[in-house]
Amino acid sequence: MALVAVVVALATAAAALVLVLADVATTATESSNEGQQLAAAPSESPARNLAPTLGKSLATVSPLYRTGRLTDVNCTPGELPAGSISAYRRFLTRVTTCLNKAWGAQFRKAGLPFTKPRLRIITGKIKTPCGAWNVGADGVYCSVDRTMYLMISREQLRNPFPLGITRLVAHEYGHHVQQASGIWHYYWAARAVAGKARRLQLSRQSELQAECFSSVFMSTAKGTPLVTDEDWAYTVDWFRKNGAKGWPQNDHGKGPTQAAWMERGFDRGTPGACNTWASAARNVT
Ligand SMILES: [Zn+2]
Repeated sequence: MALVAVVVALATAAAALVLVLADVATTATESSNEGQQLAAAPSESPARNLAPTLGKSLATVSPLYRTGRLTDVNCTPGELPAGSISAYRRFLTRVTTCLNKAWGAQFRKAGLPFTKPRLRIITGKIKTPCGAWNVGADGVYCSVDRTMYLMISREQLRNPFPLGITRLVAHEYGHHVQQASGIWHYYWAARAVAGKARRLQLSRQSELQAECFSSVFMSTAKGTPLVTDEDWAYTVDWFRKNGAKGWPQNDHGKGPTQAAWMERGFDRGTPGACNTWASAARNVT
């Protein structure tokens, strides 16, 4: 057990070095919303000689997977009019409150301690405690300060797509869920001792799970003005076609793979549908 604790502690330290980005369909047009990932690998980690499999159950059999449907918190963040950053701030604060309620209830059901992430809306690139902002990124979750950074571009201001930005914040929140539940402890421990191909696979498992968690949340608002059938179908289709374009390495999954996890999370509505860590390799391509 002491060895497990050491692995977990080292993995947590490694995770703190890294930021995770997400590309998104945050506008109603198909342009200008591809992100790139600055995934600085953890520097030489003393975990290298320890077996990461010791912590694998943190990811593969998380108690979160047995909590049933994500709680419907009747999320109604209201309108998102064009041209107003304060409207974005209000809207995203409300969405984050919904996410806190929904996931907070799920952590209670799982018997896991829960902490809320912080939200920062920015209009230009900034340096986070996890490092420099990467060109093209729309969102970042930084585990050092447990903060979701969302950058609102001029195009997003001009042409808001409420479902798109909600899906993005729910994705970054998904990384917070991974961090708070211990799933990321396994991820970073395994990454620290993996070769390149395995590292990419682990990255895909992490990203596809965050995306699936996002879709689980989106499903709770299914049929409301925020998540109409038409807008959801458009978004999944956008990712099927474009989801991999912003990532030169296959660290987020192919477009159809991303779309498949979105549909799975949305249709089932349960965190247990998002167990990418126990899924066959062909499902995380
Ligand atoms: Zn991500």
